[in-house]
Amino acid sequence: MPTITERLDTVRQRLRDAERRWGREPDSVHLLAVSKTKPAQAVAEALAAGQTAFGENYWQDAQAKLQALADQPIEWHFIGPLQSNKTKSVATHFDWVHSVDRLKIARRLNDQRPQDASPLNICLQVNVSGEDSKSGIAPEALADLAHAVSELPRLRLRGLMCLPAPADGLDAQRAPFRRLRELQETLQADGLALDTLSMGMSGDLEAAVAEGATLVRIGTDIFGARDQV
Ligand SMILES: *Cc1c(COP(=O)(O)O)cnc(C)c1O
Repeated sequence: MPTITERLDTVRQRLRDAERRWGREPDSVHLLAVSKTKPAQAVAEALAAGQTAFGENYWQDAQAKLQALADQPIEWHFIGPLQSNKTKSVATHFDWVHSVDRLKIARRLNDQRPQDASPLNICLQVNVSGEDSKSGIAPEALADLAHAVSELPRLRLRGLMCLPAPADGLDAQRAPFRRLRELQETLQADGLALDTLSMGMSGDLEAAVAEGATLVRIGTDIFGARDQV
């Protein structure tokens, strides 16, 4: 079994290769290490290997890890489904939230972000692959949500995120990512200063980089398979 450090090196190499292949600037795609369900020790090992941005899906699972690693220079990203009763914990302890798909949740995060913290970085999760996905705002409703969120002073709207259904082959994988990029370009043309496209996971990193991802979220290929999702 390769170590986390070795797996991280392999993923970084894949990322650099994809940037070169698709004509992206070197180091322009950021790597978010998705540590959900993995212990603090695994995060510490990746941190020692130079990885500083980590993603978590569930507050229950993340809480002890954040506590154990509180004195470490880690940027924490919340990427999972967010219920109203968890917004305060997330607004207090995370630097980014990628999974905002309702104004109600955005307002709660805004109201609960501590005054002494910098604004919380936000990506809006968009349902680009249709009915089979339960999370994410519909593309038709995105512009209204984006403009409303951009007005909230304790949030900083950074861009869009998607979690498309798994697909085989580069072309099929690229289609939803292209859609997300086009939605982002429309919002930018409409005056929103967005700089983040959060898309691509272990199985479709290359397709996401081809379509303009600025941040890929990689779990399995860094930390190994998970027992639970
Ligand atoms: C689990 C998860 C990932 C990482 O997926 P892998 O296939 O393990 O790389 C990325 N994004 C979100 C939203 C996830 O829930």
